[in-house]
Formats: sequence, structure tokens, C-alpha cells
Amino acid sequence: MKTIYLDNNATTNIAPEVLEEMLPYLKEMYGNPSSMHTFGGQLCRKVEEARGKVAGLIGAEPEEIIFTSCGTESDNTAIMSAVESLPDKKHIITSRVEHPAVLNFCKHLERKGCRITFIPVDKQGRLRLDEFSKAIDDDTALVSLMYANNETGVIFPLMQIGEVLKEKGILFHTDAVQAAGKIPIDLRKLSVDMLSLSGHKLYAPKGVGALYVRKGTRFSPYMIGGHQEHGRRAGTENVASIVGLGKACELAEENLYKEMSYLSGLRDKLETALLKLCPDAMVNGDTGNRLPNTSNLSFEYVEGEAILLRLNEFGICASSGSACTSGSLAPSPVLMAMDVPAAAIHGSVRFSLSRYNTEAEVEKVIEIMPGIIKELRNLSPYGRQKL
Ligand code: PLP
Repeated sequence: MKTIYLDNNATTNIAPEVLEEMLPYLKEMYGNPSSMHTFGGQLCRKVEEARGKVAGLIGAEPEEIIFTSCGTESDNTAIMSAVESLPDKKHIITSRVEHPAVLNFCKHLERKGCRITFIPVDKQGRLRLDEFSKAIDDDTALVSLMYANNETGVIFPLMQIGEVLKEKGILFHTDAVQAAGKIPIDLRKLSVDMLSLSGHKLYAPKGVGALYVRKGTRFSPYMIGGHQEHGRRAGTENVASIVGLGKACELAEENLYKEMSYLSGLRDKLETALLKLCPDAMVNGDTGNRLPNTSNLSFEYVEGEAILLRLNEFGICASSGSACTSGSLAPSPVLMAMDVPAAAIHGSVRFSLSRYNTEAEVEKVIEIMPGIIKELRNLSPYGRQKL
């Protein structure tokens, strides 16, 4: 059975072009980029080339990019750096719907004496800007808000927020792990001081990420040791993966608008058909402002986990929330923050598409899904209650 992989916000496959670019650096080009000899120097140049490509995708300068091991490390580093560089300020603002890489790190800092404000969202997952404005005070060191949500795809208004923060001199970090490579990001136009991205969400391998730090921003490293990354992130560089990330960013930049249109077309086809064919179904999140590849749907009176298991029997991979929280049967904190009714939260499924998904795959899901929902509703106590 062929797998139909619609869980690309959890992770993507490595693009063939990316793998090809990486292979020499896993084989014969195994040197250390910090070495003095010519062999090491070749690797150093390749790392710098990759840095330029990552910078190119987000409108940054190469020297503003620090390579890390993942999105989580980039997020933790950015937040910790703000706390350490501004020791007199103890307040951080974030949102209730952040990925655990930000949310749990902020909770950790709260236990260590920081004051954290978790800004709520509305029923469509949009940031409550009124609450945001009220939260800012003289003690605020950092605002950390995601670019786009991993579960619903909803995009936050960073442009507007950045302007307010710039005026007040407050550091602004964004977790762009889900946005990078999916929608245009231009840091020349956006007042953001730090931005996180991760390789495995944009067709590069797992275990590599990047943190953008705007020139002039006070920065305190999280990983301390050798002088790599100009002393901003110690540890011998993961050259092959860095090369892969560079290639992935180059491909994303070249094909961005074409892919956005392809993915939103596929996503809308899937969503429109499922809403039409499955009664008591709804979209979670602001459909007017979300990532082109993401569809979060709720099928009331049926368990999302049961839907996923049945889809899995047909080789279809989807998810019921963030991969980092799935595995627990706890309801999605993102949907709870959006005040989605309990019956809809329990019946939620996230489809997230990639450039490799085809129309035929989407048609297969449209063919199978209504039968699964009907069958599960007939079996479930919720379904019987509804009938
Ligand atoms: N931030 C967001 C929005 C994510 O979706 C993820 C991963 O799902 C992360 C951060 C963590 O990235 P990584 O898996 O590279 O640590």
C-alpha cells in the first residue's frame, strides 16, 4: 500500500536535490570547518554558502544567521538570550497557542522568577491585539510570538506588532518554524529581532535549524564552548545538514509563489469536499489568513484518534495536533485556547500538505473519509447520542 503522507507540519521528507547536495559532506568531505588546512577551508566555505542561502529566504544578511540543531534550540536560545541580556527586565509576553518549544520554555522561566503573560486568541485563532497592547509594560524584555500556528496554520500580524515593539524598544522574537519556506518572509520589512526556523519542516533533514539575530541586537549564547558561529553557538558544525538546509532554503525561495498556489489549491479542494460530504464538520482557524498547506478540521461526535487510526489503515498519515503533544490523549491546547467546543476538539484532524502531494492523493482521501466518519459515528457513544 502506498503511503499518502499528509502530516507535513510534523515533518517533511528530504527533497532529492537536498539529499544530493548533502551526500559528499557525509562521505568524502568529512573535514572540520574550523580546521586551518585547505580541506577544512573547503567545508567552511560551503557552510558560508549555506548561510547566504538561508539568509536569502528571509531577507536577512548572512552574518545574521546562526546555525543550530533544531527549531526548539533556536526558540530556547532566543528567549534565553533576551533574559540574559536584559537582566533588569523580568517580563516576557507570548501567546497561549505557541509550540511547546516556546510555551514550555516560558513556563520553565516562570518557575525561575520571570513574569510571563500568555496572550489569548479568539475563536478563529487570531491573536487578541487588545490584550496584547494591555500586557506591555516597562518591565517587558521580550515578546515571542509565532509567525504561523503549527496546528491551524493561522498567521499572526507580525508587521503591526513589530512596529509597536520597535517604538518601545522591546525585543521581538518569532518562531517561524512553520512559516519559513511556506509563505514570504522579508526581514527587511519586518521589525523582528530574532527568528527561528527548522530544517525538517522545509524538506531539509532533522537535526538542523537556524536562528536569525538582527545586526546590533544584544545576544547571549546558549551553547557555550568553542568559537564556532563566531562564538554565538558552540559545537562542531553539522556540515552536511547545514548544506542541506541551505539547499532547501534556495529551493523554497525559487518556488515559493508557485508552491503556495499549488498547495492552497490542493488544500481547498480537500477541505471543500470534506465539509460538503461529512455532516457536522467545521474548519478550525481563520480561513482568510493561514498557511497554504494546512487544514484543521473537526468532525463532531467522533474521536480524532479513531479517525487517524482508520485513515492509517488506508496508508493515510494525518495528525490530531502537534506531533510533540500527540501520543497524549489530552485535548489540543491550541483548540482549547480558541474555545472550540469540546465535541469538536475531540474530533479534530490536521491535514498538512507538501509539494510532493498530488491531486490523486487528495481525491483518495475525499473518497475514503466520509465513509470513515459515518462508520465511526455509528459506533461511538457520541454518535449515538447525536442520532
Ligand atoms: N515551533 C513550531 C511552530 C513547530 O511546529 C515545531 C515543530 O513541530 C517547533 C517549533 C520545534 O521544531 P524542532 O522539531 O525542529 O525542534
